[in-house]
Amino acid sequence: PATNLLGEEGSGFRYLTANLAQERLSIAITGVASARAALGWTLEYVRERTAFGQPISAFQNTKFVLAEVRTEVDIAQAYVDQCVLALNAGTLSPADAAQAKYWCTELQLRAADRCLQLFGGYGYMTEYPIARNYADARVTSIYGGTTEVMKTIIAKDLGL
Ligand SMILES: Cc1cc2nc3c(=O)[nH]c(=O)nc-3n(C[C@H](O)[C@H](O)[C@H](O)COP(=O)(O)OP(=O)(O)OC[C@H]3O[C@@H](n4cnc5c(N)ncnc54)[C@H](O)[C@@H]3O)c2cc1C
Repeated sequence: PATNLLGEEGSGFRYLTANLAQERLSIAITGVASARAALGWTLEYVRERTAFGQPISAFQNTKFVLAEVRTEVDIAQAYVDQCVLALNAGTLSPADAAQAKYWCTELQLRAADRCLQLFGGYGYMTEYPIARNYADARVTSIYGGTTEVMKTIIAKDLGL
């Protein structure tokens, strides 16, 4: 009934979108944290697992993959930190938040996938946190607005 109306009639969409930038930033932050956790588990694992008589951490591919993941995580962290400061200052724009969400959730998925590969078959077993991390990562580029919708927002900000 009309007596139960919250706020102004016809303003529901505006109310809904008011917190979207903060929600998207929080998903981006979770993405960076998740990717960093994947890196940590993988660093431990590659030191203990041996193949062909040596720890798999000794293979150049392992070193390169983990160097790349850490670099991407650190760069993403710098951007989300900047966005948190903007949020606190009340200046975080929808496009800033869309960039953070798009980039960090895609990074989360990429990092989970690349780290999981270094676990070999164990990476497919849910007893290992990396398997769960991979499954959880898949949804983050969908909920809170898909990557495609984030790119649409960024393109609009570019005047396209
Ligand atoms: C686990 C989970 C939790 C969720 N929690 C919440 C929640 O708490 N609150 C809430 O409101 N919603 C929630 N959602 C919904 C979520 O936000 C939507 O699933 C998401 O926004 C995508 O919408 P859709 O599923 O309708 O996909 P669709 O809109 O049908 O999209 C399907 C595909 O088409 C693409 N697409 C759609 N429109 C365009 C376009 N304009 N240009 C280019 N490509 C396009 C999409 O990117 C996607 O690849 C949740 C979803 C999941 C999976």
